[in-house]
Amino acid sequence: MRSSSLLLPLTFLLLCGEVAAQGKRKSSASAPPKKVSIDWRPGAWESILEEAAIRNVPVLLAFVPPEVGLLRELQNRLYRDDRFLAATADCVCVLAVDAEHKPREGGDPSKCAEFPTVACADHVKVLKELFPQFAKDGEMRLPLHVLLSPDGKERERVETNPVSDGGAARDKQIVAVTQGAVSAAGKGLERPLFVRFSRELPDAERALERNELGAAYASFREIAAMVKLGPFLQRAKAGLQEVETRGSALLAAAAEQEAAGDVTGAYDAYVAVERDLSGTPLERTAIAARTKLERGPKTREAIALHRRTREAEDLLREARELGRKGDLAKATKVLERIVRDFGDTPSGAAAAKDLASLATKQGPGR
Ligand SMILES: [Zn+2]
Repeated sequence: MRSSSLLLPLTFLLLCGEVAAQGKRKSSASAPPKKVSIDWRPGAWESILEEAAIRNVPVLLAFVPPEVGLLRELQNRLYRDDRFLAATADCVCVLAVDAEHKPREGGDPSKCAEFPTVACADHVKVLKELFPQFAKDGEMRLPLHVLLSPDGKERERVETNPVSDGGAARDKQIVAVTQGAVSAAGKGLERPLFVRFSRELPDAERALERNELGAAYASFREIAAMVKLGPFLQRAKAGLQEVETRGSALLAAAAEQEAAGDVTGAYDAYVAVERDLSGTPLERTAIAARTKLERGPKTREAIALHRRTREAEDLLREARELGRKGDLAKATKVLERIVRDFGDTPSGAAAAKDLASLATKQGPGR
């Protein structure tokens, strides 16, 4: 068959209308549970190639004839073959057909009635876009199945051969070259993980930009553990490296403060590292350094007072917030607690003052 058929879209439309009607009759007659089918991907060719490269999987590019008989033959045999389905699960599958398939009654009109993972506009666009690249001397014998390696280079192609076995030998060959391309590519990244990490990796990189080291670290670590190769792994590794670099710098700065005698400043810095690097190995280093300050005979009293001061400051802030909201009874309780338990810190005196002014506001009877 020649590509001249591409010039006759009207004929195809008519033919496809008939097919849609036939298909409907069939499915309503016996209605067997739908088998797993090929996950034809929509989208621009560049993004298909990008996905294949990132996932390290081959591309199966199928130029399918628009004629009803040939389309049915593929759908009823090759595209249902278990070995083929298993192999294509590790490929990015792209469909090129120059036909607008008539929507089925009750079906989603935005999806192709024959290949429901794409829209007719998708498979028509792919054909128009890729025909020049994959045709030979402006001609293409359909069906044409092309296997590309993950780097986008054409590996093998199987065109229709004029045989009398109804295409059985051709289908066998297509299954074999698909299996061959998959095993040559080696370990690939599954599509659901690719989709997930395509979202999570930029999120982690943005978290790193905001200096949210703990959140970034958790994502990078998971991606680096699950992706075996390619740009996702490189980005995750680079992210992990950056988290470690920044975390180490924070710890070094804290240690310097400690060495300079600023015990409480160092303490706050260790606490900040613990919070920001939660879940990283650096968190443990920070905990150890903080604990040492809390327990050290020369530092423990200063740290205890420092912590009490911070705690009292937090309580005072809480009491004043309650006062602003008008909950004077609760505010009074918190202030009384500060005076009672934290009288040795600056907040103790401040709380006593606040209490006095609250008592005037609330007036007699309290
Ligand atoms: Zn279609």
